[in-house]
Amino acid sequence: MANVYYDADAALISARKIAVLGYGSQGHAHALNLKESGADVRVGLRPDSASRSSAEAAGLSVVSPEQACEEADLIMVLVPDQTQKALYDEVIEERLSDGDALFFAHGFNIHYGLIRPPANVDVVMVAPKAPGHLVRRTYEEGGGTPALVAVHQDASGKAKELGLSYAQGIGSTRAGVLETTFREETETDLFGEQAVLCGGLTSLILAGYETLVEAGYQPESAYFECLHELKLIIDLIYEGGISRMRYSISDTAEYGDLTRGPRVVTEETKAEMKRILDEIQSGKFATEWVLENQAGRPHFEALRRQGAEHPIESVGAELRQMMPWLGKKAGN
Ligand code: NAD
Ligand code: MG
Repeated sequence: MANVYYDADAALISARKIAVLGYGSQGHAHALNLKESGADVRVGLRPDSASRSSAEAAGLSVVSPEQACEEADLIMVLVPDQTQKALYDEVIEERLSDGDALFFAHGFNIHYGLIRPPANVDVVMVAPKAPGHLVRRTYEEGGGTPALVAVHQDASGKAKELGLSYAQGIGSTRAGVLETTFREETETDLFGEQAVLCGGLTSLILAGYETLVEAGYQPESAYFECLHELKLIIDLIYEGGISRMRYSISDTAEYGDLTRGPRVVTEETKAEMKRILDEIQSGKFATEWVLENQAGRPHFEALRRQGAEHPIESVGAELRQMMPWLGKKAGN
């Protein structure tokens, strides 16, 4: 069995001075949860940051990233992954001292060697398995979101305990904290989003939608079938696994699922998934993404634009206008 932790030594985190860098999805949740758990937190934001007023309004102490790093002995890096290296090089590195701890919520920059901290600091990951607004809301409701903890470098000999203590501060030990490695977290996270959760899913939706529309069916029917209903199916799978979903659908649907599904996602698809995983493991994907960012993201922006221009988006926007309750659920 894997190591899953439910409690931790809170004394460790309450003895530290924490800097949370960034106040986006994860940043606001970590900073507020830690503060309410009694930790000593300051948020490091650039003077021109749009988030400054909301962080201050929430009662947090907001300083510059430089000052936050100077004051703190535990730095949690919650700026976007593609800007972490520049922030590390320009602000963090020169302000790290003996015994400090450098924390991340995703392993990308450490695992691929873009950030190489000195040997005298702890390097730890605490990665909630939920979007930031849920990390915050669940904590406020008295619960917590599960998280991963991993140690890349244990200078103090207490890095794991410190990570668990931080996880307790954001509420995650209430739900369970799974021990992993930077490598496993980074590679499975990238694979999941590329092959299944985001890439695999959106390509599946579009292929199904296009097949129906090209065969002469109404775009609106194709939208409801191939996109809208997905939510209902996913909810069932989430609640009770694939069996729970198959129990709820009709026998006709279940027979079609069992006999046709494997014709859509074939051995060939799985072989391609394996190649995608190879590119993640070899660092090919990471290099490609770093270079794309250095070049100003031309390919990324073009693909983004093309995606937004697909007819399924305008058809969907029109249909969703008749379902105003949907928009209210969209969080940050
Ligand atoms: P985000 O894009 O929501 O927010 C980033 C914040 O950093 C913004 O407030 C931005 O203004 C600020 N910022 C950008 N550059 C900065 C700089 N140079 N100095 C100071 N602040 C700066 O980011 P996020 O989604 O919260 O991601 C943060 C980390 O958490 C990433 O490592 C990500 O992989 C990880 N993570 C995110 C999620 C999620 O659900 N979004 C889940 C798990 C882990
Ligand atoms: Mg992820």
